[in-house]
Amino acid sequence: MAAFILDGKKIANDIRAEVASEIRTLTAAGVRPGLAVILVGNNPASEIYVRGKVKTSEELGIYSEKLTPPPTISTEALLKIVADLNRRDEIDGILVQLPLPAQVDSKRVLMAVDPAKDVDGFHPMNVGFLSTQRPGLVPCTPAGIMEILRRSNIPIAGREAVVVGRSDIVGKPTAMLLLNANATVTVCHSKTRDLPAVCRRADILIAAIGRAGMITRDFVKPGATVIDVGMNKVTDAAEFNSLFAGDRKREDIFRTSGSTLIGDLHPQVAEVAGAITPVPGGVGPLTIAMLMANTVKAAKMRRGSRVPELSKA
Ligand code: NDP
Repeated sequence: MAAFILDGKKIANDIRAEVASEIRTLTAAGVRPGLAVILVGNNPASEIYVRGKVKTSEELGIYSEKLTPPPTISTEALLKIVADLNRRDEIDGILVQLPLPAQVDSKRVLMAVDPAKDVDGFHPMNVGFLSTQRPGLVPCTPAGIMEILRRSNIPIAGREAVVVGRSDIVGKPTAMLLLNANATVTVCHSKTRDLPAVCRRADILIAAIGRAGMITRDFVKPGATVIDVGMNKVTDAAEFNSLFAGDRKREDIFRTSGSTLIGDLHPQVAEVAGAITPVPGGVGPLTIAMLMANTVKAAKMRRGSRVPELSKA
């Protein structure tokens, strides 16, 4: 039987509606959550991501600011911009869009963001809060993966979870969230031996690798839930045909645009898994929704103690 498709778009829309309602409550109490996005340079993918973040902020009623310093900016100058945003009370969330140009020390810049405004959840203080199960800001994509699992009633506690990928942005925080939710977690990477066998242990398999179609049916236990985080653009016709020959919808997209977006799952995984997230329309929409949720969370955490009625919001 074909796998159940976990509809990330619908889940993201539900979260957006909940967040919008919280924003209305906060705004009525005199606090409009504010998000500042710093975009350095003209990386086309980054520009698309930032546009989506600013547009969604506006739709939901978050005050948003986009800062676009020149691509030649120095680390010191960028640190000054971050320091200014840290000081401004109307800014609750600061997001530094990665990657930064080579001359900028990205780690220093991310470290400079006030942990209370770190809506990406990348600051070591928030990483520490996550690993010690204290309230903090959690990275958006991993938080979104957990929302998909929870809102789809996928059991987590006591289950075997395997995360392929150990990046600070996706793999590691996702593993930590699954562990905090009482899964038995294995983290895999490029040096893992017999990856298919390790993955086949998973009741919940998270693919966060960045390799088109790498996870084939041999990696998947029948009935498992498989979350596809990968976003890979396929432009090569031979590669496309090896993955999607016969898929009319994809063929049309590929013919007209010359490329298609594919995750880390091979299409045949749908024949074995119990449930999968599609690409596009799976994890992707959750990332922006959770950024909005984090901005509201930051606004409440920062101001809650000073505006007591907000703690009920
Ligand atoms: P990274 O490149 O930082 O990490 C990739 C991980 O995959 C590494 O840990 C690497 O192992 C591992 N890996 C690479 N090749 C293999 C292999 N052959 N076998 C096993 N493991 C392997 O990527 P990110 O974590 O930043 O992103 C992963 C994917 O998720 C990308 O496609 C990215 O575009 C996508 N993404 C999607 C988001 C969304 O909103 N949907 C948000 C963020 C990312 P090692 O550590 O040993 O090198």
